[in-house]
Amino acid sequence: MLTQASQGRTYIGRLAQGSDLLAELNRLCDELWISHGEVRAIGAVSRAKVGYYDQVERVYGFIDLDRHLEILSLVGNVSLKDGKPFVHAHVVLGDEQAAAVGGHLAEGCTVFACEAVISELLPQHELSRGLDQGTGLPLWVEEEKP
Ligand code: ZN
Repeated sequence: MLTQASQGRTYIGRLAQGSDLLAELNRLCDELWISHGEVRAIGAVSRAKVGYYDQVERVYGFIDLDRHLEILSLVGNVSLKDGKPFVHAHVVLGDEQAAAVGGHLAEGCTVFACEAVISELLPQHELSRGLDQGTGLPLWVEEEKP
């Protein structure tokens, strides 16, 4: 299931030190009303929390990483969930030994420094999230534009 999308607005900037990484990305998308798009970021966090989806139990487990880490790569998308812009992102984090850990970005990552790019996409068909029976996840369901 794919829908063609054209480029909309693009924003670039830094997130405030001490802010929650995921909450701040969601807040910015809400404030700018970016209902569909892409998110990319690099920087560092003073602590992190990432999720891992157990495909058998169908629940997220969350891992607290209470240490200073580099944001080596954050990639994500923006779509609608319950009528509001919703950021789904994954993050790769690096430690002082250059070892990488990562997972599904959860609230609980505290920004030390973060440079982000948010690009709006204008799809032909809106993507909103609904429960997918096959995975148990809130995946995209295509909706005709009114
Ligand atoms: Zn995920």
